[in-house]
Order: sequence, then structure tokens, then C-alpha cells
Amino acid sequence: MAHLTHTSPKPAPIRPHIYIAPSRTKLYLPRGSRNHAPKSWTRDYPGPIKAEWTTVARSKGFDLIRRIRDKSHVVLRCHTCSALTAQKLYTLRTAQPACAGCRHRNIVAIAQKAGLEFLGYDPEYHKLGIYRAPCGHTVRRQFGQIERIADGRCKLRCETCHSGKEAEEAADRGWRLQGSDPEGNPNYRIYRHGCGHRQRVARTNMRSGRFQCAACGEGWATAPSNIYAIRLELPSGLRVVKLGFSRDPRINRTSTRTSGDDLSRLQAALQVVAFLLVDDPVYAPLFERLEEEIRHEEDTLANGAQARARALLARTGAGLKTKSAQGGMPHRSANHPDHSEPGQARAP
Ligand SMILES: [Zn+2]
Ligand SMILES: [Zn+2]
Ligand SMILES: [Zn+2]
Repeated sequence: MAHLTHTSPKPAPIRPHIYIAPSRTKLYLPRGSRNHAPKSWTRDYPGPIKAEWTTVARSKGFDLIRRIRDKSHVVLRCHTCSALTAQKLYTLRTAQPACAGCRHRNIVAIAQKAGLEFLGYDPEYHKLGIYRAPCGHTVRRQFGQIERIADGRCKLRCETCHSGKEAEEAADRGWRLQGSDPEGNPNYRIYRHGCGHRQRVARTNMRSGRFQCAACGEGWATAPSNIYAIRLELPSGLRVVKLGFSRDPRINRTSTRTSGDDLSRLQAALQVVAFLLVDDPVYAPLFERLEEEIRHEEDTLANGAQARARALLARTGAGLKTKSAQGGMPHRSANHPDHSEPGQARAP
């Protein structure tokens, strides 16, 4: 399986042709016949060649050269490229035989266009070719995928380089990548923690850090957390101010429309946070942030577009200050979900 490449041994690529006597002529073999011992193709078959076979071969773009191996195989020469291909007589009589030489040249040309070097065919699966990627690593890919890469419709991702990237991601979190998932799920890997414990972890969780070592308990749920306030506009049109905890509160900010509704929602949120602040000073940065948002909304409503641009600039600077002021909260309990909500003001 392709996703197991970093642990499974790689079969060597095979060539599409063998050399036959006299003078080491290339004889291309159809993909289904490449696993036969090359020796079996070296003997001619001594039977007669019927005139009708020769006629059929011509009508299909080939010269019938001779019989080979056994009573059911012949050698055809392609009218287009002059390459010799071994074919079953049955295929010649009942179908359009393909020239393995033309096909091979096409595969090499597409690989070149895709920026790869074609190394040969996969001995186990006829739809796969083996290629050298620009990074120098060997990759196995379906021919159709290489065509899409050559057309610029997708990109090649080298598993070896990629697992290097994955190993780095893991190392950043104190884990070592050990290999692919023994249960065969391509989204999981086996890692070893700094404490020595081996664990099966989804790669996406390793990247985000949202998991824990089952042996020593170090990880996401015991990490420091931040509180955040975000304004959201949902596709349904509902506008919400959300307060919560997050280990990584950075979000992609998108511009939102401004109206008096925003202002009233922010003011409602400010009242909630003011209430919470009485008991717990940890809400102070959030309180300041909401006040700042309210000032911004008031400015915007009062002064129109020009003031809005100025306020936006001012807010960008102020936002940075707020972010650093937020800092880390004390450790919270391990059973706390990542996005719990201490308070929430939302539109009815
Ligand atoms: Zn040909
Ligand atoms: Zn690579
Ligand atoms: Zn551990």
C-alpha cells in the first residue's frame, strides 16, 4: 500500500522490455506478461504463420514478425515506432493490440513533463510506475496521477520528504515518529514520547498538539490556556460574541459589517465580563478588550468611513498590545474541554 512506504520494502522497478537474440533486439512485453521468466521469450515457436494473421496484423498497424515462446504468442512490429512487442495471437485476432514501445515512450515523456524521471514499472501492480522525484527520492504513483501532475492539475508530494516534515512536527512536541499505523489507517502514525511511551496518534492531532501522552499525561489538556472574545457572523445572519478558553486563541480575522446591533451585543458581553471580573481578575484583559471593541464601534458609527479607516489602524496597534497582555492563564484542570464558555452573549 502506498501509505506504508516508510516501513515496507520497495520492490525494484522492472523494465518494459527484454533483449532477445540476434543482436540484443528489444522485445517489449505487455504488462501482464512481464513476470514471466525472460528466458521463456528467447525461443521461437516453430509453427507456420497463417496469411490471415499477417493481414489482420497489418490492418491493426503491425507487421507479424514471428511466433514466439509457445503456440499462442507472436511478435509484432509497430508501424509507428518500429518497436517489437510480444502479443497473444488471441489478442491480435480479437482486439486492437497496443504497442508497448509507443506506450513506454509516452510514459517517459509524461514523466519528463511532470519533472520526474521514470525508473520502471511496478512488478506488483500494473497501474503503478516508479519515479525519481526532484528531491531525489523514489516514489510509486499511478500513471493517471502523473498525467495530472504533468497537466498542472495536482502536485507530487514525496512521502519520504513528508515523513521528514512529520518527524519534525513530532520532535517539536517532544515525540519521535516511529512509523505508519499498524491498524492501516493512513491518518494515524506510531510515535514515541520523551517518557518512552509508544502511542498511536492521529497526525493532525500531532500537528495541533490536541492529544495527551497516555503514560505521563503530558499534553494538550494540561497545557496553559488563554481566554478570548470573538465576534462571529454566522452564515444564517446571526451575530454572536463568544467568550471562551483556548490553548491557541489565534484565529483568522475576517472583516465584519458594523451596525448598532454589534454595539449592543458588545455592551451586553461587557456587562457579563464585568460581573465575572468581580470574582476573578483573570477576566481583566477580556474586559479591556471588550471596552476597546466598544470604543471602536462607537467611533465607527459616529464618524463614518474615514474614521473607520483610522480606527482600524489604531485597533491593529492596540490589538497587538492586548494579545501580549492576555498572556498565559494558570493551568486548568485536565477534564476541561478546550472551548468551554464562561459566559456568552448572543442575539435572540
Ligand atoms: Zn509503437
Ligand atoms: Zn523526497
Ligand atoms: Zn509520556
